[in-house]
Amino acid sequence: MQSRILLPFLSPLNAFVRAGKSLLQAFLLMRRLSTLHSMDRIDVGVLGATGMVGQKYLGLLARHPWFRVNFVAASPRSAGLRYGEAVAGRWQQPGEIPAELVELVLADASDIKAAAGRCSLVFSCLEMGKDEVKALELAWAAAGFAVVSNSSAHRWTEDVPMIIPEINPGHAALIDTQRKRRGFTTGFVAVKPNCSVQSWLTPVHALREAGYSVERLVVTTFQAASGAGYPGVASLDLIDNMVPYIGGEEEKTEREPLRILGRMSGEDLLVAEVPLIAAHCNRVAVSDGHGAAVSLGFGAKKPDLAEVARIWREFRALPQELGLPSAPREPIIVREEPDRPQPRKDRDAGGGMAISVGRLRACPVLDLRFFGLSHNTLRGAAGGGVLTAELLVSRGYIARVKAGR
Ligand code: NAP
Repeated sequence: MQSRILLPFLSPLNAFVRAGKSLLQAFLLMRRLSTLHSMDRIDVGVLGATGMVGQKYLGLLARHPWFRVNFVAASPRSAGLRYGEAVAGRWQQPGEIPAELVELVLADASDIKAAAGRCSLVFSCLEMGKDEVKALELAWAAAGFAVVSNSSAHRWTEDVPMIIPEINPGHAALIDTQRKRRGFTTGFVAVKPNCSVQSWLTPVHALREAGYSVERLVVTTFQAASGAGYPGVASLDLIDNMVPYIGGEEEKTEREPLRILGRMSGEDLLVAEVPLIAAHCNRVAVSDGHGAAVSLGFGAKKPDLAEVARIWREFRALPQELGLPSAPREPIIVREEPDRPQPRKDRDAGGGMAISVGRLRACPVLDLRFFGLSHNTLRGAAGGGVLTAELLVSRGYIARVKAGR
């Protein structure tokens, strides 16, 4: 009797309590972020600092508001050298090596003790055997370091999240599973996916979010030389040429999207079943910027082209809502010109973090076609890693260590 009397009041009361809880969470997050802005930056390390991706990390981190590079490591060949010495003659970035890094002495990436007290987060971009990277990244995590990795080694490790912050920030919850199962305290491993899927997966995700199931997809990629690291593909194999094969790339392109588009179920991640993907991956004579020509087929519900363009233009996600420092204001930029996007003209859009799409048109075989483009060493590698770390800071997964040089 009493509960029947209370019933009309309970649901508005629940809604009120829920709204209060969300407000409190938003307040706590804003407080954490603003504290971060006003306090010292988080000390970070870069493992593989001398490579193509490592160099990009150092460029991005040199002007980052939350992070400060305080530890660099590479192979035993480089260990003991000053950073400036180690990369002399193979610095591939525009401008000079950031002055504050020139004198930093490189450690061996396997020497975890050398980083003690110098950083709490490491960006890993090592080019080593898969099993070696797997073991080494877990050893860093077991020693208490947050590891954000560009390597493919852990992309299919069950309790390691593979994150594109605009698509699956919720997969960060796998870090709780990982810590619980492996007894990690402050440490964990999180990875970012293959560089070329970034050029088209966010537009596909935006369509799915808008209620259009993408069921079949054929993608042909045009991947830049820098994607193969330094020195990468021999110049005589690539000048005046293209190579219609990149080892392992088609398998990654077909499989990784299904894990990223999967959903959390309790402590585990359920891999998505669609879209069915066929990939053709090609290396082209472009320095930076991976392009992708995509045809896709929807389920029963199909948007028209104007609706697709509207969905892409209006798409915003958690990194934009949180105002994370590396999040592009417009994650998807729709180009109207018939000959865009192009690598040289569009790869730096949104600081190299936006996805440019164009050539949106109907497909006579599937439903629609478009061309996507993103910067492979920024959005596809170092920039994507930094944005993932920003997301994990905002979620409270990354601890702070105050360290002096
Ligand atoms: P890279 O230019 O060949 O650089 C490799 C780095 O790994 C160098 O710092 C190298 O140090 C270090 N290294 C090599 N062997 C080592 C060892 N035995 N122990 C410790 N460190 C070692 O390669 P990258 O293009 O930067 O790629 C790095 C990782 O990111 C790879 O896993 C790659 O698949 C991934 N990735 C690359 C891209 C891209 O667009 N390039 C995009 C996404 C992901 P030394 O200089 O001392 O040899």
